[in-house]
Amino acid sequence: MSFYRILTVTLVIAGLCSAASKLNVVTSTEDLAAIGREIGGDRISIESIARGYQDPHFVEAKPSYVLKLQKADLLVTVGVQLEIGWLPPLVNQSGNSKIQVGAKGYFDASTACEILEVPTGTITRADGDVHPLGNPHYWLDPENGRRIGRALKDKFSEMQPADAAYFDQHLKDFEQHLTDAEKRWDAQMAPYRGQKVVTYHRSFPNFSKRFGLNVVDYVEPKPGIPPSPSHTLALINKMKQENIKLILVEPYFDMRTPNSVAQAVGGTALVLLPSVGGEKQVQTYFQLFDYDVNLLTSAFGKYK
Ligand SMILES: [Zn+2]
Repeated sequence: MSFYRILTVTLVIAGLCSAASKLNVVTSTEDLAAIGREIGGDRISIESIARGYQDPHFVEAKPSYVLKLQKADLLVTVGVQLEIGWLPPLVNQSGNSKIQVGAKGYFDASTACEILEVPTGTITRADGDVHPLGNPHYWLDPENGRRIGRALKDKFSEMQPADAAYFDQHLKDFEQHLTDAEKRWDAQMAPYRGQKVVTYHRSFPNFSKRFGLNVVDYVEPKPGIPPSPSHTLALINKMKQENIKLILVEPYFDMRTPNSVAQAVGGTALVLLPSVGGEKQVQTYFQLFDYDVNLLTSAFGKYK
């Protein structure tokens, strides 16, 4: 065997080994995949089940999702019951023991994060509330993004220790990039701290807490419950009384009620993105906040 032939064979074997050993990560949402990609770089493969323009509470199950889960080494979920309506049956159908709840390859990112609106007292879904354990849209605070990044670095390193130093470096870069971006976002939002707005769904409490928005009401009477005429009327009155002009709507809701409310109060209904992938040009965790902060500051600027 010539030297080159041995070299070729060696390279092919090395290639096969590295392909086989690459951690295969599946996430429930694009936000988790975007953060995971920052940490895992080219040492992992990672993809999301839900798309960022879909309502993450209600994702239609497809056979292709089961196939993805069958091949996964690690499943990362948002938790706080966000995916309860669609993910557990898919995980079950996959028959993949590595990613079942409690297994090493199952990670609930909420365990690393600050969760708001956690109810005290009796927990019930009887009234249709889709947030019975607290608010699951917690990734919209960059500090929680940082915590998710750290937790994924630990998880990736545990499952693929040969690349631990690489994941460490990528986490450092991610945190530095995030710290720089936060300064920019804070400066942009600073003039508008305390501004009152209405949102369609309770998607933005972490975002609002972080950037000083004051969400005073919702188009939905309760999370997951569609608008009712009486609630809509009360909302219009409140917005008029408090001179609120902006209604922020997630991309997957019908614009008719928000538009008619906006018209009644002389305001605007705008689509604010709760997730990476909500618009084609929003493909990273940084682009998500860039997009939302730019949208808000230009809208507030108009009503100044
Ligand atoms: Zn929700």
